[in-house]
Amino acid sequence: MKVRFAPSPTGYIHVGNARAALANWLFARQKGGQFLLRLDDTDTERSKPEYARAIEEDLRWLGLDWDEFLRQSDRTARYEAAAEKLKALGRLYPCLESEEELEFKREQRRRQNKPPVYDRAALRMTPEQLAKAEANGKRPYWRFKLSGGEAAWRDMVLGDRRVKLPALSDPVLVRADGTFLYTFTSVVDDLETGITHVIRGEDHVTNTGIQLDIMGALGMGREIRFAHLPLLVDAEGAPLSKRLNSVSLRQFRRDGIEPAALAGYLAALGAPRDPVPAMPADLVAGWSLEGLSRSAARFDPRQMLALNRKYLHGLDFAAVRDRLPPEATEAFWLAVRGNLDTLGEAKDWLDVVEGDILPSEQPEEADFLRAALACLPEEPWNGDTWSRWTAELAGRTGRKGRLLFWPLRRALTGEEHGPDLKALLPLIGRERAVQRLTASAG
Ligand code: GLU
Repeated sequence: MKVRFAPSPTGYIHVGNARAALANWLFARQKGGQFLLRLDDTDTERSKPEYARAIEEDLRWLGLDWDEFLRQSDRTARYEAAAEKLKALGRLYPCLESEEELEFKREQRRRQNKPPVYDRAALRMTPEQLAKAEANGKRPYWRFKLSGGEAAWRDMVLGDRRVKLPALSDPVLVRADGTFLYTFTSVVDDLETGITHVIRGEDHVTNTGIQLDIMGALGMGREIRFAHLPLLVDAEGAPLSKRLNSVSLRQFRRDGIEPAALAGYLAALGAPRDPVPAMPADLVAGWSLEGLSRSAARFDPRQMLALNRKYLHGLDFAAVRDRLPPEATEAFWLAVRGNLDTLGEAKDWLDVVEGDILPSEQPEEADFLRAALACLPEEPWNGDTWSRWTAELAGRTGRKGRLLFWPLRRALTGEEHGPDLKALLPLIGRERAVQRLTASAG
């Protein structure tokens, strides 16, 4: 069993690719198979080494690894050999029409209410005509001659699927400059590298029809199973493909999303169970390709953030120590972790605990805050100090609930909401508490 994740290094990995990467990886790890990372970099103009590097980095960040790695740009000789084979079979034919000519033909067919499918005029070109054009400096590009009928397969997610080949134009597999298109290189690689299952997005369904036909022509006689992951839509139900840059792994990482939150969320898209934040290795057992729904899956960043929060709330100090400012102690972490959306916010609470924050002035609470100062216990402080102090203060002022706590919170933290003051107060310490209560009283 062998699967592959095959991104094109023409941009950063977004949630759509990441879901495919994770599904392939989980499937391989579940079945004891191999996972190949293949860079589909035959588009030499748009492929960039920095994207290739970023893809590897982002996949590692997400907790994925690979057993094998290859670049399509290293395999040109293999594609040339396969193309020669198709030419010999008469399934790959040279074309000379320009993009303008093709557009003109498509327009004509549309006007006649016919589907704008390529008319295969190039098949009627004689060797002499081709030789003459080449002598004049023209170079042909090459189309694959699709067979008639249907390409059908039993999709592991979508069920029985078929693509009517006569409704499609013969695809270009080789450009005039001799470079190959993904449709073709992917087939050659999938066959030659021993791929047994292709798991990818639903946007590739038509490709699968075409690629099955190419596989048949290459006659390598190995059956590859396909699984297409349903389209991702945003919270409003619109296809996510429109705004893929805003959902790149880079951006999530910058925004402080934890890989476990993203992985847990992606693994649960279309699955019959609620997401749990976990790294891919811990998701293997509970995940099933066949259990995925056939309908579009909703990707809602708010749900992912909720998962991020849940994950942080359960993390031990040891798991985050390296990523917190060095002054952060275990007591600090336990006090604030329940209030974080992202780990980066811990820094803001550290400022609240030991920085020079300026609490808002509350002149209308001046008497109350002075009373609070007057009964502020002496140090040492511990987890009981807050309740001892506020019980005393409640007795003196007759206040309770929000009227009692809120002015104290605002004075001590400068914030209206936040971690439990029982845990925060001993971290703030008496000296700062006195300064802040005094300043807030005005
Ligand atoms: N390079 C293709 C893409 O990024 C791969 C699709 C596939 O998995 O075959 O869309």
